[in-house]
Amino acid sequence: DIRLAERVKALTPSTTLAITAKAKEMKAKGIDVIGLGAGEPDFNTPQHIIDAAFQSMNEGQTKYTPAGGLPALKDAIIAKLKDDQGLSYDRNEIMVSSGAKHALYTLFQVILDENDEVIIPIPYWVSYPEQVKLAGGKPVYIDGKESNGYKITAEQLQTAISERTKALILNSPSNPTGMIYSKFELEAIAEVCLKNNILIISDEIYEKLVYGSSRHISIAELSPEIKDQTIIINGVSKSHSMTGWRIGYAAGNKAVIKAMTDLASHSTSNPTTTSQYGAIAAYMGTQSPVEEMREAFEKRLEIVYDKLIAIPGITCLKPQGAFYLFPNVKEAALKTGYQNVDEFAAALLEEAKVAVIPGSGFGSPDNIRLSYATSLDLLEAAVERIHTFVDSKL
Ligand code: PLP
Repeated sequence: DIRLAERVKALTPSTTLAITAKAKEMKAKGIDVIGLGAGEPDFNTPQHIIDAAFQSMNEGQTKYTPAGGLPALKDAIIAKLKDDQGLSYDRNEIMVSSGAKHALYTLFQVILDENDEVIIPIPYWVSYPEQVKLAGGKPVYIDGKESNGYKITAEQLQTAISERTKALILNSPSNPTGMIYSKFELEAIAEVCLKNNILIISDEIYEKLVYGSSRHISIAELSPEIKDQTIIINGVSKSHSMTGWRIGYAAGNKAVIKAMTDLASHSTSNPTTTSQYGAIAAYMGTQSPVEEMREAFEKRLEIVYDKLIAIPGITCLKPQGAFYLFPNVKEAALKTGYQNVDEFAAALLEEAKVAVIPGSGFGSPDNIRLSYATSLDLLEAAVERIHTFVDSKL
């Protein structure tokens, strides 16, 4: 037997993966399952990006790049941050990574010492706590209350801070809730972080997927002082439907970026060269496919949201961004005879043949997460199945 490292034994397996595997198994048996678990856009990458990647390979750009990314890609990211956020960065304040997830992983590795604390708002994206723990850090959770749009307040943040607090993670628009922090809310949080010298990790991966009158604001925009204390995490995965290309970035303090780049030089060497050329085209080329995809998501949201909240026992805050619905289904679960939402979600898969992700994996056991990154036909059919299922058990 090979003894595995303690750090791996502490890893929590992903609930998302368990449900997805079960749904796949059922599909393989010929069962007609509709999967609403997806965490990625269902569109192909825009053609001009694919073309640019091919072209770079044909021109012989198939070798290592600098560990922190191609200078041309850093410049494209710098231009994007200037255009979208009005923020100025130098090349030594940008690190290109193999996806936003890897930027986050590398960031925790370079800022955390044993037992340093990172404040994570609930509901959270599943990888945050695991990545913090892998770096020896300690997640400290704050409850984003449903009554406050699943967002934390400055007061809650203040009470969670200790001498060991190193950083706060903000994810707006949020996976799984789809909620967005307003400028007013961000200002209050920024003030607490400045006062207590806490690094802000701002995961803005869903920035481009914003609906109605909602607007995405990066906390780094609030003042030069806040910008200095913020590391922005972003990438092309969700904005340009490029999840498989694995390109993300971190922007912020140059000492942190240098440490991250040094670490990457010994782990990945560099993000895939071809993908970096694709990402340059993504940022420098037309943004109309980004807007088209956003519009498609918004249309689905409008249709499916109304159908979802018509189901007895299900309530749902209307998402402002991303591509998830995060309804509270506790009442529906209890009234249809289940002990909890995990059991209800399992029954939805077994009996209604709809795969959803139980909220417990996001620290929010009364909810389920439904992704609308799938066709309108399938979405409508799935919500209808859930409705029929609930009605049949009442
Ligand atoms: N951050 C959040 C909140 C996400 O939901 C995801 C992807 O699911 C990521 C980061 C990672 O994105 P990437 O594909 O660029 O690694």
